[in-house]
Amino acid sequence: MAEQKRDYYEVLGVDKNADEAAIKKAYRVLAKKYHPDMNPGDKDAEAKFKEASEAYAVLSDPQKRSQYDQFGHAAFEQGGGAGGFGGFDFNSADFGDIFGDIFGDFFGGGRSRGSSNGPMRGANIRAAVHISFEEAVFGCEKELDITLKDTCKKCNGTGAKPGTSASTCTKCGGKGQVVYTSQSLFGTVRNVSTCPDCHGSGKIIRDKCPDCSGTGYISGRKRLSVSIPAGIDNGQSVRLRDKGEPGRNGGPRGDLLVEVIVARHPIFQRQDYNIFSTAPITYAQAALGGDILIDTVDGKVKYTVKAGTQTDTKVRLKGKGVPSLRNKDVRGDHYVTLVVQVPTGLTASARDLLKQFDAVTGDSLNYVANNPEAAKNASRGKKKKGPFGL
Ligand SMILES: [Zn+2]
Ligand SMILES: [Zn+2]
Repeated sequence: MAEQKRDYYEVLGVDKNADEAAIKKAYRVLAKKYHPDMNPGDKDAEAKFKEASEAYAVLSDPQKRSQYDQFGHAAFEQGGGAGGFGGFDFNSADFGDIFGDIFGDFFGGGRSRGSSNGPMRGANIRAAVHISFEEAVFGCEKELDITLKDTCKKCNGTGAKPGTSASTCTKCGGKGQVVYTSQSLFGTVRNVSTCPDCHGSGKIIRDKCPDCSGTGYISGRKRLSVSIPAGIDNGQSVRLRDKGEPGRNGGPRGDLLVEVIVARHPIFQRQDYNIFSTAPITYAQAALGGDILIDTVDGKVKYTVKAGTQTDTKVRLKGKGVPSLRNKDVRGDHYVTLVVQVPTGLTASARDLLKQFDAVTGDSLNYVANNPEAAKNASRGKKKKGPFGL
C-alpha cells in the first residue's frame, strides 16, 4: 500500500451503484480522451488511461467488483486482506471488445490486431444454393460448383519462382503495416494500414512463380457436395469449414458459407417450424362431417371434419410441420384452415334439392318476401342483417 490510489468509482466518475452499462459508458469516454494513440508522448494522458483501464477492468467484472466493494484496493494487492487475488491482472479483462467499439468508427477499421504478416486465417467465401420447399423441410444433398483457390504446388504458396525467395519489403520493413498520422477532432491520430507495396505480407517477390504469377494460389473450379440439414429456412447458411480462401503464412483456410434460398411452395407457407395451408371442404362435409384428405409435406393425410364446421375453422395436424434444425425428430405442426366451398354451376335437380333443403331449414329464400318489417328496412337502404345473414 505504498502509493495512494484513487477510488475506482471516482476514477470513472460513476456512482457506487452504477450499473454495467453506465460503467462501460464512462470508461469509453475516458478511454477515447486519454488513449495513447490520441495523445502520443503525453505521459500524463497515458497514466490516466492506465488508471481508467484498471478501474474498468475491476468494476466491469462482477466478482472483482464485489471484492473491491468489500476490501477496496487491498483486495488486489500482494498479501492483501482478501487473500488469494494476488496482483492485479491487467490482461485478464476483455478490452478487445470495447476498443473495437470505441476505435472501430474513427480508425476506419484499419486497425488490425497484431502484425499482419504472421499466420492469418483465409477469408470466408459466400455462395448460394436454391432448394425446394420440401428439400428445406427434409434436408438434401446439393452439388455446388465453386471457384476455389488452392496453394500453388510449384512454389508451395510462396509465390516466388522455385530456387528464389521473396525479399523483405522495404516500405514497411517486413511488418506488413504502415503508420500514418493525421489530424482529427481528437488530436493527432495514428492510423495503421496495410502496406500498399507488399499488401501486408511483408515480402516482395522479384522472381514470380510462373504457375501462379506470384500469388501463391491456383484458382480452380471445384465441385463440392453440401449437406443441407432438415429444417433449414430461407436465408440461413450452411458452413463448410476450411473451404474458404487459403490462409496466409501458414494460417488456416477460411470457411465457405452457403446461403440457402428456398423456393415458394404453391400451397404451403412456413413460419419457423410450422406450416400453414388452406383446404377446401364442401358444404355437405361442413354440415354433416366426414373424412377429407389434406395435403401435407408427408403426403395426403386423412382428417375427419366435425359436423357443423364453419368456414375458416383452423385445425392442427400435430407433428406435420418442419423438423427442428437441432433435432429432426422434433417437428412443428401443420395448421390447416378449412374453407367451405359454395357450390356453383348446380344442375336443375341439385337446385331443386337445395330449395327443398332451404324450405325445411327456415325458408331463408323467402324470408324478405314473407316479412314486411324486413322489407321496410331494406327499402331504406340500410343493410340490416336478418337471422340468416342476408
Ligand atoms: Zn506458385
Ligand atoms: Zn510492405
